[in-house]
Amino acid sequence: MSTHTITLIPGDGIGPEVTDATVRILETAGKQTGTEFVWERYDAGADAFVKTGEYIPKALYESVRRTEVALKGPVTTPIGEGFKSINVTLRKQFDLFANFRPIKNLPGLKTKYPDVDLIIVRENTEGLYVGLEQEIVPGVCTSLKVITEKGSTRIAKFAFEYAVKHGRKKVHAIHKANIMKLTDGLFLRCARDVASAYPEIPYAEHIVDNTCMQLVTNPYQYDVMVMENLYGDILSDLCSGFVGGLGLVPGANLGENAAIFEAVHGSAPDIAGQDKANPTALLQSAVLMLRHIDEHMLADKIQSAIEKVYAEGKTLTRDVGGQSGTRAFADAVIAALD
Ligand code: NAD
Repeated sequence: MSTHTITLIPGDGIGPEVTDATVRILETAGKQTGTEFVWERYDAGADAFVKTGEYIPKALYESVRRTEVALKGPVTTPIGEGFKSINVTLRKQFDLFANFRPIKNLPGLKTKYPDVDLIIVRENTEGLYVGLEQEIVPGVCTSLKVITEKGSTRIAKFAFEYAVKHGRKKVHAIHKANIMKLTDGLFLRCARDVASAYPEIPYAEHIVDNTCMQLVTNPYQYDVMVMENLYGDILSDLCSGFVGGLGLVPGANLGENAAIFEAVHGSAPDIAGQDKANPTALLQSAVLMLRHIDEHMLADKIQSAIEKVYAEGKTLTRDVGGQSGTRAFADAVIAALD
């Protein structure tokens, strides 16, 4: 019997629905393998502010420091005004420098692009997401893009280490160094330096706008793609389209001292509270979390139940062409656990 204490941040919008479904599946599967979860549950964002007067309660920070692992639903960020992104703040606070996002088709789910298997490695703490914006004079605003040698080198190392460990074929650095010669130029120089230490992994560079065209024309030419923050954010959503959309793609925010697992998607206010959200993306993020805490048997068990439900195709959510709700999908995954 093993017990894991995990910080749980359900988030808002569809967050609580996909989190409930995921927790229910993890707990049921855990009972079958003798794995117990103790959840330390916290609100974040506007809900937390109403209850505690803080957007990110101190107790949440302390919990992540203690558990070193969190499972997180999406949190709404006000657009063009209001408080800073909770998601970006948490990544920076715990120096979760690597955002790891695997893009892989599920069996049985027909998409325009079958057999896609891509890894997006996004630098998670720098670039334009440092939030250093100012209004110089009325009508003129600036936003500072911060790229450092340390940040670029460690994310490139992460990408190459992952490629070696998991037998991936190549690494592409994605950039816009033709225009941002200093910032993206530094990123590229660091990526090249790191690449030279891994001669067994072919390395190439593509400009980000060309990459968008290359991706929709032939995603199979890529394997591991490493890039700074904004390009990683945009290309993640683009690539989710290859495998059936945002309802499917998981993610991990990884640092030296903590890890937060969350889907690529946001809080989807258009479908929140309607039992329509697909919990697969958060559930597959939880599978990444289980591997991170060395619960590989449990991870395999849940992944294989997800794949069974997709292969059967009878209890899928609407975003992937089914008729079922969030809860019914979770019930089907639970029934497929063996
Ligand atoms: P979104 O990802 O929430 O939604 C985009 C589209 O995808 C919507 O049509 C939505 O219904 C659909 N979708 C997303 N997840 C789905 C799921 N699990 N099942 C079925 N359909 C799903 O993006 P948005 O609308 O641009 O952003 C909404 C809010 O989420 C914003 O406040 C944004 O800042 C926030 N956001 C948070 C995170 C995070 O918490 N990490 C990430 C991205 C966006």
